[in-house]
Amino acid sequence: MSKLVVCNWKMNGSIQLVDSCVSAMAYLPNDVALRNLVIAMPDIFLAYANSMEPRFKLAAQDCSVYGGSGAHTGEVSADMLMGVGVKYVILGHSERRSRGEDTELIHAKLASAVRCGITAILCVSDDYESQITEQIEGLLQAHHDDVILAYEPVSAIGTGRLPGVGDIQRVAACLRRRYVISKVMYGGSVTSANALNILKMDEISGVLVGGASLKVDEVSAILAAASQCMSYST
Ligand code: PEP
Repeated sequence: MSKLVVCNWKMNGSIQLVDSCVSAMAYLPNDVALRNLVIAMPDIFLAYANSMEPRFKLAAQDCSVYGGSGAHTGEVSADMLMGVGVKYVILGHSERRSRGEDTELIHAKLASAVRCGITAILCVSDDYESQITEQIEGLLQAHHDDVILAYEPVSAIGTGRLPGVGDIQRVAACLRRRYVISKVMYGGSVTSANALNILKMDEISGVLVGGASLKVDEVSAILAAASQCMSYST
């Protein structure tokens, strides 16, 4: 089983950082490491990154509820993201929920993403039972191969305070069983120092990395941990 390393740059990064990633990727030990990497960068850099390194798996950090194109000022549709090589979209991140994104809106965005074939990385916290509404659960059942759940306890985001390994394992197992989903990731203060311990859990399909993803050396080290863990489970 492959272990994904999803880098969430948030509202950070630059053309220079894209260039540094392109150069660093040339030094990865193998293609497997590159296949495990997904970079979620601000929309403005996506087309450039795709043109510089078409093997990058790119993610957006949001998408519109509207498909295709139309009179929706400021919106970017999942179809447009697909057009510049985007394969994944992060939805329901706690930073967006805390600014007013509710479950109804997240459901509509999720529907829009899966409709056009983008894999959604749906973030949930310890409060997942209220975040995964019946409507969202319906989509998870219908599209279980096109949605990855990312367990991100709010208390761990950007704080350096991770839950215990046992807690991560318990929640991931519970999410998989309850929502019949095959991929559950963990996110919250992942660094090269703790990635191996998290990635080696069978219940965990990858990590979502925020702050540490802005440092190319950290990303390379986390990718090395991910490659190491693939051999645990294959
Ligand atoms: C995140 O915000 O998705 C995240 C995981 O952040 P950090 O790694 O900085 O805690």
